[in-house]
Amino acid sequence: MCVPSRGQHTVTFGDDSGLGQDPATSVGFHTEGGTVFGIGPFTLLDCADCQSGTSLSPEEADCARKDMRTFLASTWRCPSCGKDWPIQEAIIQGLISSHPAASINVVGNILLHGKTTVATGIESVVELSQEVPLILSVNFTPWGKYARLGWVPTGEDKFIIISSTVTAMAGQDPGRYAELGERLDVDWMLSGRSNWSDLDVPVWQIVLIQAREQLDRKGYGLSILSSVVALEAFVDAIITNVFHDAGVEKKVSDIVLEHTFGISRKLDSLLPSIAGISLKKSGLRSRLEHVDKLRNKIAHGEVAESTEAEAREAFEVSVRSIFHLLVQSLNADATHSAKEQRLRSE
Ligand SMILES: [Zn+2]
Repeated sequence: MCVPSRGQHTVTFGDDSGLGQDPATSVGFHTEGGTVFGIGPFTLLDCADCQSGTSLSPEEADCARKDMRTFLASTWRCPSCGKDWPIQEAIIQGLISSHPAASINVVGNILLHGKTTVATGIESVVELSQEVPLILSVNFTPWGKYARLGWVPTGEDKFIIISSTVTAMAGQDPGRYAELGERLDVDWMLSGRSNWSDLDVPVWQIVLIQAREQLDRKGYGLSILSSVVALEAFVDAIITNVFHDAGVEKKVSDIVLEHTFGISRKLDSLLPSIAGISLKKSGLRSRLEHVDKLRNKIAHGEVAESTEAEAREAFEVSVRSIFHLLVQSLNADATHSAKEQRLRSE
C-alpha cells in the first residue's frame, strides 16, 4: 500500500523561499483509453479549517501515480493546525479555496525565483531562465531597506522591476527607506502558467483550471460555462473508457455521446447503466441541477453576467462531482479487475 510520507512540501503559503514546481511533472491515472485523471502541476492541498495550504510533495505525487485509488483514500494532516483530512477533501479545498495564494498555485504551474539588485527609482530588467507565457504574480522581498516595488511584463522571458522611494511618515525612521538611486538587493518570486496546449493533462482538467482562472478574474458567466463543460468532458472521458474496455470502437462511443444531449442524461441514464456509477448518493445532484440551469441561461443568451456566489457554487459542484465520480469509477475498476483475476485463477 502506498502511504504518502510527511516530507517537505514544495510550496507553502507565505513561504517566499519555495522551490519551483517542475512544469513537466504531471502524473495520471492511465487506462488504455488515455489519461482519465491527471494530478501534478495544479494539485494543492488545503485545510478548510485554518486555510493553510501546501503543494503536493514528490512522494505524494509518486503515490498518486502508483495507486490513485489508495492515494485518494489516504489521510492528509494539515501541517499548521494538525487536523486530519481525507486527502481527496484537501485536494478539493485546494481547488476551491478563495485564498489568493491558492488561486496562483492552482492556476499557475511555473514558479521561478531569484535575486537581483535595483537602483531605486530606475527600472531594472530581470531575464528569466525559461519562457513564461502568462505571468500571474511577482512578489518582492527587499533586503535592508524598503522601497515600493512593482513589475511590468515585457516579453515572455523577462519582466521589468519598477521602484520608487517611500516618504517616511511622522515618527518613522527615514533611514529605513531607500533613497532615490540607492542600490537595493531584492528577492523575487514569480508565478506563471504555460500555454494550455503545452500541458500534458486531460482536456477536462484544463477546462476546469480555466474555470478557476475566470473565477479569479471575475469572469463569472464564463467560469460557470467552463465548470459545466469540464464536468461534462470528465463524464465523457469515463464513458469513452468504459466503452473502450468493453471493446467498443471510439467512433461508436463518440456517436453515443454526440446524441446524448446535455449533462443530465449522461449522468442519470448513460453513466449508471454502462458504468454503474452516479451522483445519486452524493448530495450533489440537485445542486448540479441548479448550476446546469444557470449554464443554460448563459449559453442561450438569457443573462449576460452572473454573481460571484453563483460562479463559486458552479465551480465547487463541478469539482466535487468529478471527485465523487472518479472514486466510484476507480472502485468499479478495482472490483472489475479483482473479479477477472478470480475467474482466471479458478
Ligand atoms: Zn489546518
